[in-house]
Amino acid sequence: MVLGIIWALISGTYGFNDFTKDWIDPFGVIFINCLKFIAVPLVMFSIISGVAGLGDPSQLGRMGYKTLGMYLLTTVISVTVGLVFVNLLAPGVQSNENTRLNHRLEYEIWATDNGIEIKDGRLEMAEVPQEKIDQVRQKLDADAATPEYQVLAAKNEAAKANKEGPPLQPLIDIVPSNLIQAFGNGKLMLQVIFFSLFFGISLILLPREKTETVRSFFDGMNEVFVKMVNIVMQAAPFFVFCLMAGVLAKSASNINELIEIFIQLGYYALVVFLGLVVLLFGFYPLALRFFGVKIAYRDFFRGMSPAQFLAFSTSSSAATLPVTIECVNKNLKVPEEASDFVLPIGATVNMDGTSLYQAVAVIFLANYHDVDLSMMQQLGIVGLATLSSIGAAAVPSAGLIMLMIVLDSVGLNPMWVALILPVDRILDMCRTVINVTSDATVSAIIAKSEKLMD
Ligand code: ASP
Repeated sequence: MVLGIIWALISGTYGFNDFTKDWIDPFGVIFINCLKFIAVPLVMFSIISGVAGLGDPSQLGRMGYKTLGMYLLTTVISVTVGLVFVNLLAPGVQSNENTRLNHRLEYEIWATDNGIEIKDGRLEMAEVPQEKIDQVRQKLDADAATPEYQVLAAKNEAAKANKEGPPLQPLIDIVPSNLIQAFGNGKLMLQVIFFSLFFGISLILLPREKTETVRSFFDGMNEVFVKMVNIVMQAAPFFVFCLMAGVLAKSASNINELIEIFIQLGYYALVVFLGLVVLLFGFYPLALRFFGVKIAYRDFFRGMSPAQFLAFSTSSSAATLPVTIECVNKNLKVPEEASDFVLPIGATVNMDGTSLYQAVAVIFLANYHDVDLSMMQQLGIVGLATLSSIGAAAVPSAGLIMLMIVLDSVGLNPMWVALILPVDRILDMCRTVINVTSDATVSAIIAKSEKLMD
């Protein structure tokens, strides 16, 4: 990983970034592809063999409630930690009066154009010189013409269209109408989980002698896919080097650009980072202790580090899932009956890092535009960030797209995400580490509460 970063810095400074993009980055893509294609069948085989191993459907039901409850709890706590940090440290608050006025005008013009009620009206638009308003409008028009803006606007439209539908749409979306489609679309992991659980439950409801062959088939297939993960991971150091070099080469062309980005968004990034660090090194070890899981602090991090490093370099909990399962089984000694069921669901719905980041980003963007969010609005963010992190896919940048929906829901401009885009990849890498660690923590807690861990 470190070599990849050094390579990217050298290639940016000495002008061979294109070489990195053309000849090194593709190996990173190949690596992620390998992990992704393994992840979907692995989820299916591991859930089926995990459920079959339980042998008792009522235990599954109990574990299901506990799992969802724990996931919800950790997410709400994460958003709250994010809100506390962002309110205390206040990133985005502009000290220069003129800059503040310009940013506030950007918000008010957008809100007026879109018929959005301005709740904390502090600007008397009538007192602002027309010349100034024209200037800001020109800037907004220029921003809207950039290709990056157009790409984001299209994504925003797609995300909005997805959100529309009856209130029970998320429930409808869990049940596949076509199995092949569910397996063919990485975003439909919940459908794969639904099918696998249904299959596993049906399997344990049948007499054992009738299902012996099917059981051993699924156990065997599970072993094969785990082996595939092991083989791919043998080459992980090389692939991770390529991934890091490629990601950095694509996000900034030289070190000056990197420094520039850091100066502008460094404080905001730092607040997100601090929140994530508190969860990682404080909250999860405490939660383990609180629920009586006896894993030493060092052993927990040593055991999880392969999955954490992989999450950091791939920015995808789904791609990391095969390795998370391995780490949790082998190193944390959580038995497969718990991990095979809890982790795939977690990778899809439990994203503590993403929800914390969304809370910080919304308040940062509001501060930046001199918008005051009331206590009620902030409480609303807890719910919104929780729901949107559940809905976010376990792939790079999913949290950013869902952030647009959160902004929209609190009456702010979804296109403001363009502002934080330059640091989003690095924050995505960090929040994915948290997402994966949270899943592992919950799986250990569930295993402990079900007396599956001695
Ligand atoms: N990349 C994150 C994950 O896969 C999701 C996100 O926050 O964008 O867990």
